[in-house]
Amino acid sequence: MNISELLARNARKFPNKVALIDGDVSLSYQEVDDTVNRLASSLASLGIKRGDKVVLYMPNTKEFVYVYFAVLRLGAIIVPVNARLTAQEVQYIIEHSEAKAVIAHDWIYQELASLVRTVDVIWVKTGEAADGWRSLTQLIATGDASPIVCPLNEDDETTILYTSGTTGKPKGVLFTARNIFAVATMMALETKMDKHSRLLHMMPLSHSAPLHLFFGGGMYVGATHVLSPTFSPEALLQLITKHEITHFFGAPVAYLLTAKHPRLHEYDLSSVQYWTYGGAPLSANEVQFVAKQFRTNRLMCLYGLTEAGPNGTYLSPEEHATKAGSVGKDAALHCEVKIVDEHGKEVPPGEVGEIILAGEGTMKGYYKDEEKTTETVKNGWLYTGDLARRDEDGYIWIVDRKKDMIISGGVNVYPKEVEDALKLHPAIVDVAVVGVPHPEWGETVKAFVVTTEPIEQLVEECKRFLSGKLADYKIPKLYEVIPELPRNATGKILKQVLRGMHNETATRS
Ligand code: ATP
Repeated sequence: MNISELLARNARKFPNKVALIDGDVSLSYQEVDDTVNRLASSLASLGIKRGDKVVLYMPNTKEFVYVYFAVLRLGAIIVPVNARLTAQEVQYIIEHSEAKAVIAHDWIYQELASLVRTVDVIWVKTGEAADGWRSLTQLIATGDASPIVCPLNEDDETTILYTSGTTGKPKGVLFTARNIFAVATMMALETKMDKHSRLLHMMPLSHSAPLHLFFGGGMYVGATHVLSPTFSPEALLQLITKHEITHFFGAPVAYLLTAKHPRLHEYDLSSVQYWTYGGAPLSANEVQFVAKQFRTNRLMCLYGLTEAGPNGTYLSPEEHATKAGSVGKDAALHCEVKIVDEHGKEVPPGEVGEIILAGEGTMKGYYKDEEKTTETVKNGWLYTGDLARRDEDGYIWIVDRKKDMIISGGVNVYPKEVEDALKLHPAIVDVAVVGVPHPEWGETVKAFVVTTEPIEQLVEECKRFLSGKLADYKIPKLYEVIPELPRNATGKILKQVLRGMHNETATRS
């Protein structure tokens, strides 16, 4: 029950099958496994051993895969971090995780230059050695290719993922081998992956869904993995066509951007069997828009969060015909789901409660934060902080995140409902709604909007547009037009940045 053993098993079962495609380079399972053994033996001679933490700072490249498996093969703990993090953000993670080594990619290692002299870890980069940095290429070349058997059992710790921190400081989410295996098998089975599948990895592998669900699922069956270090609609369309991709996972924003690509219909996307999306909400209208633009009935929604592995629920392609916008009815394999009130009692259909999840994918806990762990996982149930209701057919509709809920004059306003209504305005392309302080009501509703053209008398126009769609108290009182919404590396809107941007000069009604 170990993801690193899956690689070795695939190399034994089908040594010559293409495991990775990175640009013009194609590598077989045997080649990847040999490289991983070489690297693991060199890392061991540098002193990396079972239980040590190694920070992996790389975009989606073949070297990411080598390091990921080599570290796990030694029984050490891998800490993948997003390649777009700044030196300061990486430093926090190095120090919090008590990392022994940092392995970075040649393209971005200079971002960490200021840390090399001051932070005492082993620094390794791809390509040539540099001041203070050892060469990964050299470590691979000089390593011993003899098979190394991973010493870990299923309940041993293997991975720490730092959540992107859209609601506060990043938290280190600690996983065991069992957690990762459970999530990988769920994805492989629920999206019918097999050794003929070809997966496109465009979302950063440093995050739980791309890494554990998608990459893990493909590794479970011995699929071919196509790696792309960056996302762009054009690259997505080209790579899908070129490699006849069968499975894709993307954040909602990746789908929305690609759906607007002017030459979308020139590409043949018919090889795709599962267009999976998740990690942030996509409204019913947006799902229908994407399906229409992509000319597909193979969209699949995944709902989960890092702390759940990210196992949660899913809405199958078939269910999209009638329930687009919902996150599904049942929990995914190896998981259970309930919607509960503040006493932990299940709420009836129609009523809003908090989603709780339990299952094999659920984290062991927050690294070095027992208090937060006991607050979040109670009696084996993970409290997600997501508010939702079931409809009369049992389908779950996300209402919003508990932390984003606005309480204005004692009444609850769910920003997502307001955002979904505003997105229907023809001149509004993107919108985020937050609560901002108000002297009388505690909080008031503010909308940050991105428009295609200037909207005259924005406040009046939005009020007119929303009246009849939303109750008066939900209609934003404050608006601010901005060129683009701040998003994190996985496309999630950074609401705390918007709250910080709020200023008194905003247009008032
Ligand atoms: P932090 O927990 O620090 O705020 P984060 O928000 O980036 O960081 P993730 O684990 O990446 O952490 O995000 C999980 C959240 O994303 C879920 O709790 C939920 O609010 C939202 N989410 C995930 N999938 C979906 C989905 N299919 N539909 C709607 N929302 C989703």
